Amino acid sequence: MQSSTERRPRLGLFGGTFNPIHFGHLRAAEEVCEALALHHLWFIPAAHPPHKAPQVLTPFEVRLEMIRLAVGNHPVMAVSDLEGRRPGMSYSIETLRLLREEVGPTWELYFILGLDAMLEIRTWKDYAQLFELCHFVVLDRPGYDRSRLEEMLTRNVQPQFQALEGGAGFQHLSGYKVLWQQTTLLDISATGIRRLVHQGRSIRYLLPEPVRGYIINQGLYR
Ligand code: ATP
Repeated sequence: MQSSTERRPRLGLFGGTFNPIHFGHLRAAEEVCEALALHHLWFIPAAHPPHKAPQVLTPFEVRLEMIRLAVGNHPVMAVSDLEGRRPGMSYSIETLRLLREEVGPTWELYFILGLDAMLEIRTWKDYAQLFELCHFVVLDRPGYDRSRLEEMLTRNVQPQFQALEGGAGFQHLSGYKVLWQQTTLLDISATGIRRLVHQGRSIRYLLPEPVRGYIINQGLYR
């Protein structure tokens, strides 16, 4: 018999700068949708990310448009402009609270992020409270060691986390989980794409063709 938790609709929230969105994000998102049977997955670009230098940041509307082009008419994925609709820094804690208000209590929320970002979570505003608001799904990323997460959660956030059986992740005292998600490892980064464009080199096959065309037509990252 299914528990009431399993019957709740599931919404994945994939935050980031997406400058630009690429196949590293998209393939991981696709695999998370499938593995967790998500009803929706929203990409949530940060309007004013606290951890990125504003001088290299492409305008919010431009990054939003590239996500729209990448997602197209995908049955599950969409883009949210929530962080562009509010002033000030884009803190995830505030976004999660607002989203919870927007969607209501029925939805199960899964915040998706790469291991590199998760390892930095202690620098995020009110980070300890994040684990009381939703589940987390952590994606492997080439060059980052999984054991560092276990060390960080069990040493620094102890005694609130317990390892789940079979290495599936960790359970927080709140009942929410931090889950590992095995995805196809793609060593693609937005920094690398921006660098290639700047050097006049090809970015074909690193991101969807409509996004590549948009970058070229708008003269981005030159
Ligand atoms: P930049 O190179 O500008 O720092 P990025 O490629 O890391 O950008 P972000 O927009 O910062 O992309 O990433 C959003 C989220 O997606 C982060 O949680 C990050 O860890 C994750 N992510 C980015 N690239 C990959 C990838 N190739 N595989 C898995 N996760 C990724």
